[in-house]
Amino acid sequence: MLGTLRKIVQEVNAAKDLKAALGIIVLRVREAMGSQVCSVYLLDPETERFVLMATEGLNKRAIGKVSMAPNEGLVGLVGTREEPLNLEHASEHPRYRYFAETGEERYASFLGAPIIHHRRVMGVLVIQQKERRQFDEGEEAFLVTMSAQLAGVIAHAEATGSIRGLGRQGKGIQETRFIGIPGAPGAAVGTALVVLPPADLDVVPDKHIDNIEAELTLFEAALEAVRADMRNLSEKLATQMRKEERALFDVYLMMLDDSALGGEVTKVIRTGQWAQGALRQVVTEHVRRFEMMDDAYLRERASDVKDIGRRLLSYLQEARQQALVYPDKTILVSEELSPAMLGEVPEGKLVGMVSVLGSSNSHVAILARAMGIPTVMGAVDLPYSKVDGIELIVDGYRGEIITNPGKVLREQYEVLAEQERQLSEGLDVLRELPCETTDGHRIPLWVNTGLLADVVRAQERGAEGVGLYRTEVPFMIKERFPSEKEQMAIYREQLEAFHPLPVTMRSLDIGGDKCLPYFPIKEENPFLGWRGIRVTLDHPEIFLLQTRAMLKASAGLNNLRILLPMISGIRELEEALHLIHRAWCEVRDEGLDVIMPPVGVMIEVPAAVYLTRELARMVDFISVGSNDLTQYLLAVDRNNPRVADLYDYLHPAVLEALQRVVKEAHGEGKPVSICGEMAGDPAAAMLLLAMGFDSLSMNATNLPKVKWLLRQISMDTAQQLLARVMLLDSPQVIHSTVQLTLRNLGLNKLINPSAAV
Ligand code: PEP
Ligand code: MG
Repeated sequence: MLGTLRKIVQEVNAAKDLKAALGIIVLRVREAMGSQVCSVYLLDPETERFVLMATEGLNKRAIGKVSMAPNEGLVGLVGTREEPLNLEHASEHPRYRYFAETGEERYASFLGAPIIHHRRVMGVLVIQQKERRQFDEGEEAFLVTMSAQLAGVIAHAEATGSIRGLGRQGKGIQETRFIGIPGAPGAAVGTALVVLPPADLDVVPDKHIDNIEAELTLFEAALEAVRADMRNLSEKLATQMRKEERALFDVYLMMLDDSALGGEVTKVIRTGQWAQGALRQVVTEHVRRFEMMDDAYLRERASDVKDIGRRLLSYLQEARQQALVYPDKTILVSEELSPAMLGEVPEGKLVGMVSVLGSSNSHVAILARAMGIPTVMGAVDLPYSKVDGIELIVDGYRGEIITNPGKVLREQYEVLAEQERQLSEGLDVLRELPCETTDGHRIPLWVNTGLLADVVRAQERGAEGVGLYRTEVPFMIKERFPSEKEQMAIYREQLEAFHPLPVTMRSLDIGGDKCLPYFPIKEENPFLGWRGIRVTLDHPEIFLLQTRAMLKASAGLNNLRILLPMISGIRELEEALHLIHRAWCEVRDEGLDVIMPPVGVMIEVPAAVYLTRELARMVDFISVGSNDLTQYLLAVDRNNPRVADLYDYLHPAVLEALQRVVKEAHGEGKPVSICGEMAGDPAAAMLLLAMGFDSLSMNATNLPKVKWLLRQISMDTAQQLLARVMLLDSPQVIHSTVQLTLRNLGLNKLINPSAAV
């Protein structure tokens, strides 16, 4: 059964559009189940009716015509109950409805399974049989498995059609919304530029080209390059492999021939398809044919074809990358955005970003917020490889992407983007003013930095210091570990830029979703693995070198603070403090007169919450990393879009933990700051102020908004709100209570401006 299932899914995956996909589903499922009828009904979101979209066995003329409301018929029942229905005699069921157009009176038994994608009922898959019989457990399980597998494929095919402006039945539609997760606030209208992962044939889109000759030349060059690679490889291995074994390379060379794969790709290019698309079509077809074979040896040959395909593709991509043109209003779209991708866009051209993977707490989203680039993360249903060159709206407030926007909507979003610009300009007047409540309570607002651009922005916004300098960012954009001298220069720049204000430099925090290309960490469970201080304590040479560079950079400035990430126990802190002391002695031995900087601990692991008192006793300050603390307290991967709606820093458990940390740190007489994204959310900042945090550190983009809000309220108002919130047990109710308070105070202008669109 598993083999049949795999084959059907593969075939459906290769279908060119939704109609073809549904056609294959009904044909193959009917065959596999040995039934007389198989049909797919899809729920039309506009009419809210289940429409017959494909059938084998019923009258095909009924396709697109027969439909039923959720409260009608057996199909409606399966759809609303979201459960399979297995009936020996369908017409005896009270919900049975007869449709003359389908000729269905001849079928006695009925088995229906709902098609559900991300909790949304998309339709119903049905099989029917003439004879009265109960489908057995195995058949029911097969249909349920089949529909679970097909839900994603149908959603993808449907979405691809809508991007091309095609509705379910091929009619023109506009403005399709794809839901993701808000990554960075703001609205942008621009042209999508898709950054494809290197050498991944599966995601190569179709593209029409006019200059066929140029395309053929490009492909010919790629063929030649792969041929040369094969010959070189074969020669290199001549001493290690027997001649017969090296025959594999001859097979590869033959596959590249005009009479084989090479020729087939050329033919497709001549129809006006770009080389990458032609290559994908030909390779996918060959791979599919091999994979369907029953002979295990032949099935394995699919991997050779894939390998050849990948090699050709990477040469094509390399050639194309050199000629890449970024549109004036680029919306960067990728399966997984990375900080390096942002760096490649020429200055001034990047207006928005979309990532299929990741969520609002992924590091790339944090960077996007720091740079003020509207971003949507976790857009899992967007067939991203198909949107290249298409106009898109990115709504970073709501976490939505809109394809094919009509004139009216586009204009509304352009107005919104302009209003946002004016609002932030309006807040510029706050730059020199202190962050002080109406009853005179001062709370310094610091910035989080990483990129050099952050420094300028932070200064423009009137930051009073750096609460978190993510030192891994400069490490991430290099091709090897930066030397002590290189690091020193980078750190000196930061320290000088803010002097005499304090700059809190965090020791290298890699692992989790932050990888260094030259120091890969491959783990099953990276967020629970080798991360942050765990890596640097295992590599004291990296830690010592970095600390020395920080200390040397601070000579004569004395505004450095060192912060340690991911501490989960006393022993780690002892070891880290010991290494810092050693580095300090070494630097002084070299004759540099640097003072010992204040050292702090991040509270971002639940264990550290309960150890705050002991940790605080050993250091000079405490800083809460609420991004990780939320992820670990709620057991929600901060990077996983599937569970993104469970990730909430206003969860009562997180608020309890934060209050506890403040109380314990203050109990030891140590200041406590917070540098997670929560600090930059004006509404949450109000609660943090009330809890007694001594400073808040956030991205420069949000700093004026937080300052604006905190200057409008009194400490008393904030504390009353906190007291009310701490009695609540539901994150949703906490959110609405906070929003309502702001609204009642007339202070809600910063909250989700796109609600008006
Ligand atoms: C945090 O976890 O809250 C934090 C500030 O660190 P990062 O987001 O870099 O993991
Ligand atoms: Mg962290």
